[in-house]
Amino acid sequence: MIPYGRQQIDETDVLALRQVLHSDYLTQGPTVPAFEQAVAERVGARGGVAVNSATSALHIACAALDLGPGDVLWTSPITFVASANCALYCGAEVDFVDIDPATFNLCPDALEAKLGRASQAGRLPRVIVPVHMGGQPCDMRRIADIARRHGVKIIEDASHAIGAERDGRAVGSGGVSDITVFSFHPVKIITTAEGGMAVSDDAAVLERMARLRSHGVVRDRALMTRPDEGPWYYEQLELGWNYRMTDLQAALGLSQLARIDAFLARRQALAERYKERLAGLPLRWQAAPDAIRSAWHLFVVVLDDPAIRRRVFDTLRGAGIGANVHYIPVHLQPHYARMGFRPGDFPAAEAYYAGAITLPLHPGLTDAEQDHVIETLAGALA
Ligand SMILES: *Cc1c(COP(=O)(O)O)cnc(C)c1O
Repeated sequence: MIPYGRQQIDETDVLALRQVLHSDYLTQGPTVPAFEQAVAERVGARGGVAVNSATSALHIACAALDLGPGDVLWTSPITFVASANCALYCGAEVDFVDIDPATFNLCPDALEAKLGRASQAGRLPRVIVPVHMGGQPCDMRRIADIARRHGVKIIEDASHAIGAERDGRAVGSGGVSDITVFSFHPVKIITTAEGGMAVSDDAAVLERMARLRSHGVVRDRALMTRPDEGPWYYEQLELGWNYRMTDLQAALGLSQLARIDAFLARRQALAERYKERLAGLPLRWQAAPDAIRSAWHLFVVVLDDPAIRRRVFDTLRGAGIGANVHYIPVHLQPHYARMGFRPGDFPAAEAYYAGAITLPLHPGLTDAEQDHVIETLAGALA
């Protein structure tokens, strides 16, 4: 089966892991801060907090922005469930903003209208989580403008989008959001096996997230509330979790980061090839303004006729192609339906889902494999 996504591991990765295995630190040691600094530099953020998954990063990001009971977080329905679940972990509620059917990203017009209504009702969200679907950055300048007018905080879920750019700005660099989260799951752009990172320009937010990653405990004298009782002394200032990344993961991450430009270039070339060779078929893909450089985590096609989606999907699978679907709208998941969400609540997201198929796209995909995908898809649509 040709997978829809897959990690690229080479001997430099193996060597990096061997070095850590023979060192003093297997858990969080000196390699974690080195990886944090390297990612922050790459994306143009002040700093980063590495954790054991992007899900954990979203959780500590929400907690660091004081999301809690009585608050609401808004995100896109077309995302992985983690973008919404982070609010529930904090005892907050979730609502959604429908997507733009052309870009598959949260629709800025829908956001503006919904924030206007929420403002009048006195029920503004505390946080919104735009998701850079498939690696294509949302219009963050516009979203930030709208959110700022209402005093709403922004966490970018950039799980798909490390290395992506829009209007000359790298995803994760300053000025448009409070925190940006990356995932290093093996199907994403670079991997640490499990792993994620939250980057920010705000030193206080970074410090708070670092504390929440590790039980809410601090060892820095300056942050303590009582006299130092000795070299063993530490204080737990609030309730945190054990979301630490290991030095093994960070070493893999550093080694992968050294090859990120090659990964991005291959993904981009494959995406361009898909676009050239699928042109004219009864389907569409993400519309992108010129100022965008997508990280191309996913290549999703939306069939004009959703009634044949299942048959086309089965044909691909039958030909050894690991097609997939990203994503089932989160508001339709049973856990969210129990909160009162219903089919019809977010029609653009639901229409997108009905026709969507994710085609294989990863740096190890060969031209021949891609040709097989294209020919099989074209045959199924003929
Ligand atoms: C993969 C993903 C996550 C979660 O990442 P993990 O590192 O697996 O926790 C969150 N949001 C989106 C949009 C994702 O694709």
